[in-house]
Amino acid sequence: LMNLTKKLIEIRSMLLSIDQNDALKLPSIVVIGSQSSGKSSVLEAIVGHEFLPKGNNMVTRRPIELTLVHTPTPPGGKPSEYGEFPGLGLGRIHSFSDIQRTLTDMNLAVPASEAVSNDPIDLRIYSPFVPDLTLIDLPGYVQIASLDQPESLKEKIAALCDKYIREPNIILAVCAADVDLANSPALRASRKVDPLGLRTIGVVTKMDLVPPEQGASILGGNRYPLHLGYVGVVAKATGKSNSERTSDVVKRKEDDFFGAHKNVFGSGSLMIGTDTLRKRLMEVLESSMASSLHGITNAVQLELEEATYQFKVQYNDRRITAESYVAETMDTLKARFQTSKAEFRKQVIREKLKMMLDDKVMDVLEQLYWLDKRAKELGDLAMDSRVKGPEDVDSYWRHKLDAASSLLTKSGVGRDSTLLVADGLRAMTDSIASGEPFTYHSRAAERLISFSHDILRDRIGVASDQVENCIKPYKYEVEVEGREWELGRERAIGLFENEVTMCEKKLKDIRQKVGGSRRLGALVGYVRNLEEQDRERKERKFKASLNDDAGEEVEEPVAESYRYPAAQILDAKHAMLYTDRIAILKLRMNALRSKRCKAGPENDVFCPEAFLNVVADKLAYTSTMFLNIELLDQFFYEFPREIDSRLLYDLDRKEIVEFARENPIVRRHLDLQDRKDKLEEVMKQLNSLSTLRADPQPKPRRN
Ligand code: GDP
Repeated sequence: LMNLTKKLIEIRSMLLSIDQNDALKLPSIVVIGSQSSGKSSVLEAIVGHEFLPKGNNMVTRRPIELTLVHTPTPPGGKPSEYGEFPGLGLGRIHSFSDIQRTLTDMNLAVPASEAVSNDPIDLRIYSPFVPDLTLIDLPGYVQIASLDQPESLKEKIAALCDKYIREPNIILAVCAADVDLANSPALRASRKVDPLGLRTIGVVTKMDLVPPEQGASILGGNRYPLHLGYVGVVAKATGKSNSERTSDVVKRKEDDFFGAHKNVFGSGSLMIGTDTLRKRLMEVLESSMASSLHGITNAVQLELEEATYQFKVQYNDRRITAESYVAETMDTLKARFQTSKAEFRKQVIREKLKMMLDDKVMDVLEQLYWLDKRAKELGDLAMDSRVKGPEDVDSYWRHKLDAASSLLTKSGVGRDSTLLVADGLRAMTDSIASGEPFTYHSRAAERLISFSHDILRDRIGVASDQVENCIKPYKYEVEVEGREWELGRERAIGLFENEVTMCEKKLKDIRQKVGGSRRLGALVGYVRNLEEQDRERKERKFKASLNDDAGEEVEEPVAESYRYPAAQILDAKHAMLYTDRIAILKLRMNALRSKRCKAGPENDVFCPEAFLNVVADKLAYTSTMFLNIELLDQFFYEFPREIDSRLLYDLDRKEIVEFARENPIVRRHLDLQDRKDKLEEVMKQLNSLSTLRADPQPKPRRN
């Protein structure tokens, strides 16, 4: 029969880990009693050691689920006793004072404002001296609320006890013999849920504190009858030496006390002593478990069928593990990474860099040529048949061309091109990290981003220096071949055509905005006039200052400037800029299309655009090559390895499960699968019990 209880206790804790559902509960013994009734002393006498938190400031604040596991001493071996807190993972604790300290800490960790917590502490004690039992120790009922305890404490404790004394649990109601049973909150609470005492055992402590006859009459139970009866104990273990077991001391005291009053307690009709209590608890728990067996088997069967059905319907019986999910996630990550790699092919990078350099070329041209009043002159030169060749051109233009080339090559191409590619890489990892399934894994996403940023930070300096070094020759001399020249010339024309189109579009927008070309014409005329006046005024002022005529006031233009709204004046100014730009672009396009420009690179001085375009192209080509070696190859080599070594292999089993469970879809899948597995295991165990099944009739009290 012992085997049955042991098995059922195991099954009970498995059921508890499945859910806290009442339908799936096997009975446990719940210990209730008011503070100082001797509850702890009784529990410690059963366990054989002092292990419960002591102190006067309400030390039990959480329920303690105490599972006693009888572990026979192997023949010839030494008896071994130890405790375990499965929830804490501390392993076996052989010192009961360590267990006591741990329990005290866990209780004191409940914030004072909460006073009590419903969250139970799981404690298992393995010993050859304990029976197989499950006991739940609850905070003692508070009789008088003291000053430092919140008003609601009394109710909170009562509510917590009410939750635990429900069926099918067995109630161990602890009362002190020296307190009137009528005042026992434990008996009062148990009577509400179990009026006949069918599942309540009374424990009367402190039998030594009342006259033996009075004690015996309490145990007779005539005033408050309990079907399962009362057991009288003397649970005080004072005067215990260190080497003694609490249970032995208690037994000695009880033997002394009850032995001294054989005339009253010796008839054998009353239940006395902690030994008797221990046996009684075993019997009652056993028969209660046995009688719950049928019901629980049915309930588990139903739950299992439901879980199996849901698993089939929702997941088509597909099993997953946290590990497989993590591996899958990593594969997805690497696959996405591979796809994104295509965006960083040489060709693509080169085009991007070329675009960046084209912009730079435009800036250089604007600065050095378009704003130059002699720009038109250069265009005329290109088409002037009297000019034989470059040697006939004013050295002014030769200097210009050298300056332009040098502006371009020294514009920080190394840094800018490296940053352009690094930004692209950063954007790529950021986008991977912000997509599924990393939406569920914010910590992993953060790490992913930080790895990539770290790698880039490390590489950027080196890469940009390298690129800068490699383009150095172009800072001194650029050799251009005929074919390159021709391509550069065509590309320059293409760029200018685009620029003209863009300017024309802007002009058109402005024309529409101000109300047609006539109106724009009038506006532009007006602004030109204003500018003319402004220039004259400045000139006069300048002359006046030369003549030392400081006293003479130069009249300011008035009212006139209010003829048009300021915004329109600004539009007109923009329109003028675009018009000027279109004019110069067209001039330059004509030059680029001229015979002279077509003739070849020796005419570079006439067509700086073609030359600069070739330089830009060479810079883009060289930068791409070295960025590829110094930045991209490195990044694409290091990043996947970082993922492996710092994101994946870094995780222990617990972290893998945590990671997988961050994804709600996976969490639900794992939960259902786990539930089904556990129910199957419980079902298997329950079925194997049928051979052990005991007589399910609960036994009446002995007398
Ligand atoms: P709890 O608050 O209900 O856990 O009560 P304790 O087990 O801490 O006991 C309260 C006090 O009563 C302690 O000082 C115990 O030593 C004492 N006590 C407990 N049981 C007995 C008993 O059977 N006889 C005597 N004389 N004292 C007891």
